[in-house]
Amino acid sequence: MPAERRKAVDAVLAWSAVQQALPGRLRPCANPECRRFLLERSRTNKARWCSMAVCGNRMKARRRCRRTCDAAAE
Ligand SMILES: [Zn+2]
Repeated sequence: MPAERRKAVDAVLAWSAVQQALPGRLRPCANPECRRFLLERSRTNKARWCSMAVCGNRMKARRRCRRTCDAAAE
């Protein structure tokens, strides 16, 4: 089997394993520019980013920027 094909199969298998082990805990990242998925591990089930360090901070920074930039524009 070609390596690329193999990778795709592995991804699908991993996906279904997660869905069985943790139903409803796999969802798309809340960052619309991000195409990754996050795996919810906390009990609160409120994670929104695939990675707090990457998308979480980026989206927070953007929100902060929007406020600052809007204020600066007025
Ligand atoms: Zn993300």
